[in-house]
Amino acid sequence: MLHETEKLHFECTQCGRCCCGGGEYHVFLNAQEAERIRAELALSKDWFRRRYLQRLDSGELTVRLHASGRCGFLDAQGRCRVYAARPTQCRTYPFWPEVLRSKATWRAEAARCEGIDRGAVVPLAQVRAALLAQRAYEAGMG
Ligand code: SF4
Ligand code: SF4
Repeated sequence: MLHETEKLHFECTQCGRCCCGGGEYHVFLNAQEAERIRAELALSKDWFRRRYLQRLDSGELTVRLHASGRCGFLDAQGRCRVYAARPTQCRTYPFWPEVLRSKATWRAEAARCEGIDRGAVVPLAQVRAALLAQRAYEAGMG
């Protein structure tokens, strides 16, 4: 993986672009994460599920996006309303397996995320920890 051979620079500018998408873009979360967010917002289970969650045809649970593609938890100022309880993929981005696969995939992701290749080198231990957490989530153990 790229981080084992290259020093990776990353600094989030809080542009909010990774919280917006559409098409193939989804904010995945598991039942535990959904419950943590629901509790953070102090909403009833039914209302929270109807208003904020969506099940894809694949059966995977996701955050319902606005028609514009913005995550349902992104506020008008571009801030995450559930930051403390945000899903694993939001915590580990951009250190995802598919992004760290090669220089080409890292650079391709930079087209979406302006924080990639910006700022200081991210300590290797931090990249490894994020990747491990993302892999654990994807394996159903997160
Ligand atoms: S949960 Fe928060 S951090 Fe994650 S995509 Fe939505 S607004 Fe962004
Ligand atoms: S796209 Fe990158 S720089 Fe922008 S908010 Fe997301 S992680 Fe930060």
